[in-house]
Amino acid sequence: MSEKPTGYYDLVERFPASGCAVCRLVLRDGERSLKSLMHEYVMDFDTQADFRRSRGLCNHHAWWLSGARNALGVAKLYSAALDEIINTLDSVTDDGQRTLFSRLLNGDGNRSALADALRQKKPCPVCALQSANEARYLKTLCKYIKDERMNTAYRASDGLCLTHFRGALNAAPSAATHTELVTIQRDIWHRLYAELNEFMRKSDVYVNENFGEEGDSWLRTIASLGGLSGVFGVDRQRDDDGD
Ligand SMILES: [Zn+2]
Ligand SMILES: [Zn+2]
Repeated sequence: MSEKPTGYYDLVERFPASGCAVCRLVLRDGERSLKSLMHEYVMDFDTQADFRRSRGLCNHHAWWLSGARNALGVAKLYSAALDEIINTLDSVTDDGQRTLFSRLLNGDGNRSALADALRQKKPCPVCALQSANEARYLKTLCKYIKDERMNTAYRASDGLCLTHFRGALNAAPSAATHTELVTIQRDIWHRLYAELNEFMRKSDVYVNENFGEEGDSWLRTIASLGGLSGVFGVDRQRDDDGD
């Protein structure tokens, strides 16, 4: 097979770690992006323009910045976003306010034009990068699902989280890939389900047995269905909005 992409090695190296490998990679990429933002792009014109349009970062990534030990960098980036917000407010004249107010009183729609003007014009740039990388990892997994090293690593892993498994199914280019994904993931979830049942059995007050590997199965189930802590993405938000 021709030379493999970096994502291939990223996946096979992350599968042995606990939790979903794609979640782990997305978390890594998000943190790298935030560090690079702070170290290299604070004064970059395009970055500041993006910050204006996205109104800063999403809640999760914005609070990551508070621990980045670069208060001046955060101030410079956020001053651009705040300036944009203030400019938008200042552009509304008193007459405009009256027009908007009467529009609402007359029942001409239930949305404020000003609220719309203040909304994000672009998604959080870190979430956007994570979503793009997420799609790339899932595509790579599908492409190499029959590769022995990838296949073995996936089978022996905690599997994909539910969101990333659904993403992989949607990215599957053929029925054979789809079937292979289902076969592997189904075995993984059957094993987890058995461990969860064993955990519940041993949790019974009348059963005097020590916990084994199933002891943290309840935590692994949270990660398996909800994804690893801190994984957010544009697609995930859109998905949630659509349901
Ligand atoms: Zn995941
Ligand atoms: Zn974000």
